[in-house]
Amino acid sequence: MKKNIADKIQDLQFFGEFGGINPSISDSSSFTYLKAETMESVFDGNVKGCHLYSRHTNPSNKYLSKALSILENSDSAYVTSSGMAAISTCILQVCKQGDEIISNRTIYGGTYALFKNFLPKLGIKVKFVDFNNLKLIEKHLSKKTKVIYCESMSNPLNELVDFSKISILNKQYGTKLIVDNTFTPLIFTPINLGADIVIHSLTKFINGASDGVGGVICGKKEFIDSLKDVNNGSGMLLGPVIDSFRASSILKNLKTLHIRMKQHSFNALYLAENLAKDGHKVFYTGLKNHPHYNLMIKNYNKEFGFGGMMVLDMKNKVNAFKLMEKMQRNNIGYLAVSLGYSKTLFSSPSSSTSSEIPEKEKKILGISDGLVRFSVGIDNDIERTYKKIKNIINKI
Ligand code: PLP
Repeated sequence: MKKNIADKIQDLQFFGEFGGINPSISDSSSFTYLKAETMESVFDGNVKGCHLYSRHTNPSNKYLSKALSILENSDSAYVTSSGMAAISTCILQVCKQGDEIISNRTIYGGTYALFKNFLPKLGIKVKFVDFNNLKLIEKHLSKKTKVIYCESMSNPLNELVDFSKISILNKQYGTKLIVDNTFTPLIFTPINLGADIVIHSLTKFINGASDGVGGVICGKKEFIDSLKDVNNGSGMLLGPVIDSFRASSILKNLKTLHIRMKQHSFNALYLAENLAKDGHKVFYTGLKNHPHYNLMIKNYNKEFGFGGMMVLDMKNKVNAFKLMEKMQRNNIGYLAVSLGYSKTLFSSPSSSTSSEIPEKEKKILGISDGLVRFSVGIDNDIERTYKKIKNIINKI
């Protein structure tokens, strides 16, 4: 019988040191050897699989990496202390001075700032292109291009990319297609759609508890091993390691991801459909009027739905701010950035998570001041939540 991703994660069987049903937390920064020669051989790279020092590898991080490589159908994975650590560590392993990256123009503001302001200081140039326009991507591809970068569902407008077409260009030009899948774990499996490397901020849906920060890089074994190389690995040398207590905690939360994603998606679709029916402008890939609805249907893993992220256009900043403050006062959720929490989180992308993007760019991208981004929670009764929101909007 063919197993789906959630079955594969469920079938992971890790035992703790004393037969515990959770793996024991590795509480050591360093690991001992019975023979000095073995330690020497590990440093020389002649012995693999031994833990040496926790910045390099440790058992807790290995368990979480294993589970995440199953989630993303990759050979291997490397967990990091944050999503940004995953992105920067990955890029710095692939690119050197003089190299170029072609990035989708709609990406998370922190990644945009890294690409726009920081990487050029290291001699790495990033060209921002509208990935809806494949001709434009091709126009900018050159021998210098090492990476094609995008998010599987972009922040904040839920735009998608046509993986089938982009992956052809990626193969043709010998670049690496790196995809940030933070918004859509389980919903998209980018490696099956042609990606070489998949990144997540674990801080969001995967952990789901908004109690910690983490990240992961999933890819081919050879690439993931290169990150850990004691002489040249960006993982080993820049030190983005996640603490083993946090890794262990995220692994436990990952086990309920399939249930949470289905509920986030169910609730977001309910809100999106009803708010749209009420005449509001809503950006949600489960709505047929979303420009990428067909792409969504083509590529998504249907049983996990359209995802938990939805954007409502309140037309101007005053209305957007009023709505968010009132929703928090009415306990619909929190006026806070981030996503993937059990309760609904809402923020204004223009003045928060996309504030790094210059005003002129934001205008072109359609990130206006009236937008409110919702990370819809796993509320038991979403009809009740919708009625409360409707009531608040009617009074604004
Ligand atoms: N990628 C996306 C799509 C994000 O939304 C974020 C953070 O909001 C990140 C990456 C960065 O993750 P972290 O905050 O864990 O560093």
